[in-house]
Amino acid sequence: MRIAFLGLGAIGRPMAARLAGLHQLTVWNRTADRARTFAAEHGAQAAGSPREAASSAEVVITCLPTSQDVEGLLDGPDGLEAGLSRGALFLDCTSGDATTSRRIAARLAGKGVAFADAPVSGGTNGAAAGTLTVMVGGDAETFERAVPVLQAFGKRISHLGPLGSGDAMKAVNNTLLAVNILSLGESLTALVKAGVNPRVAVETLNASSGRSFVSEGLVPDRVLTGAWPTTFRLALLDKDVGICLGMLAELGLPAPLLNKAGELLHEARATLGEEADYLGPIRLQEKRAGVEVRG
Ligand code: NDP
Repeated sequence: MRIAFLGLGAIGRPMAARLAGLHQLTVWNRTADRARTFAAEHGAQAAGSPREAASSAEVVITCLPTSQDVEGLLDGPDGLEAGLSRGALFLDCTSGDATTSRRIAARLAGKGVAFADAPVSGGTNGAAAGTLTVMVGGDAETFERAVPVLQAFGKRISHLGPLGSGDAMKAVNNTLLAVNILSLGESLTALVKAGVNPRVAVETLNASSGRSFVSEGLVPDRVLTGAWPTTFRLALLDKDVGICLGMLAELGLPAPLLNKAGELLHEARATLGEEADYLGPIRLQEKRAGVEVRG
């Protein structure tokens, strides 16, 4: 298939790399050098504009920070919309918001382009290994067309429901992720301060009922080791929690716990900055407690 991929960020790059091995790939990135380097390394074409990227593609995939960024990419004489062909399939792998996704879909439907929101979970390692979970919102026919494309980087590809359902699922998932990160920061530093060996604490937790993806995967690899790699920006996680809280407010549902998590995450983002990693709140809590969870 002829596929265009736009947005070679931390997760977009390994996703596009998996597509390059299987399809005829054209890439575009706002910072053009990154697209040129990627194209040289992976045998892809680098396009000079979103329009050029879309012009010969049967499938267009975007992976940008927000849905608004994707919407903005459609505009103008060199924009995506100008390049899209009737009958093309547009998959947005951004962790986006349902309202903007539905607006994009309506705009593209007028051009005969099918759209689905298709955010992913599983991190940069999961993207490189092709084991991402993909959460698709859209009609059944669009989902069927999307599956063979998404299989390049996705292992579990779920159809959540109509347009925007993938965005809703992803926002809720990442809010639970944020709750886990914040609560592990508070509880592990408390255990260390109380004199428990950090490694034994984490191993015991991971053989007990309080464990989670964060405690089983991220804490041993990144916190106990002190490696602290930057793979997913805290600012993006904060954006995801904001989308979830917006949805809860729209639904008129009380959510005191999730709102508090949102508040704490927002504060951590303000303290640590836009480039901090999403495990930064654990490090922040270590500083407040005066202990390190290492071992
Ligand atoms: P990064 O911040 O690493 O990269 C963002 C990418 O989008 C870059 O290619 C950047 O271009 C481009 N970009 C930013 N703003 C614009 C704009 N206004 N117009 C055009 N291009 C733009 O983000 P990630 O790759 O980490 O995340 C992308 C999406 O995937 C987000 O929605 C995120 O929440 C989600 N996600 C990320 C995961 C991760 O582990 N990193 C995991 C799951 C989902 P440039 O190179 O010029 O800066």
